[in-house]
Amino acid sequence: MSTITTQTKPYEKFLPEPTQLTKPFWDYCKSHELRMQYCLMCSEWIWYPRAWCPNCGKRDKIEWRKLSGNGHVYSFTIIRHVIDNSPAFQNDIPFIIGLVELDEGPRIYSNVTGVAVDKVAIGDAVTLYFDDVTPEFSLPKFKKTQ
Ligand SMILES: [Zn+2]
Repeated sequence: MSTITTQTKPYEKFLPEPTQLTKPFWDYCKSHELRMQYCLMCSEWIWYPRAWCPNCGKRDKIEWRKLSGNGHVYSFTIIRHVIDNSPAFQNDIPFIIGLVELDEGPRIYSNVTGVAVDKVAIGDAVTLYFDDVTPEFSLPKFKKTQ
């Protein structure tokens, strides 16, 4: 009889610290769904999560609405150095942090992968995927579409 042991290295990067307001977002991410708040009164997306609509001030007509996950690079920066207290990122550099504009309109900061740092460009089409970094958290990230 043999025993298979799986050793997994603990995730050493920063993790979300959900609040009452942001917990639904992270719970949907865990289910591999990208959802953001949407105001039914003024038909506006709300990002980041808030207790009321920043456009009309209503707090009772907000729902968590699913997004397609398709978008494009609105802007980006390339991370080439890590600060001393985050050595977990050392093996990742250089990497791309993008401001992704989703097809539905809202913009979200995240990693952009699937493209070399010297090839990424504003306007590149990207699509959502989830990185299951711990049993509790799946992080929304974007990959360049071919
Ligand atoms: Zn509103």
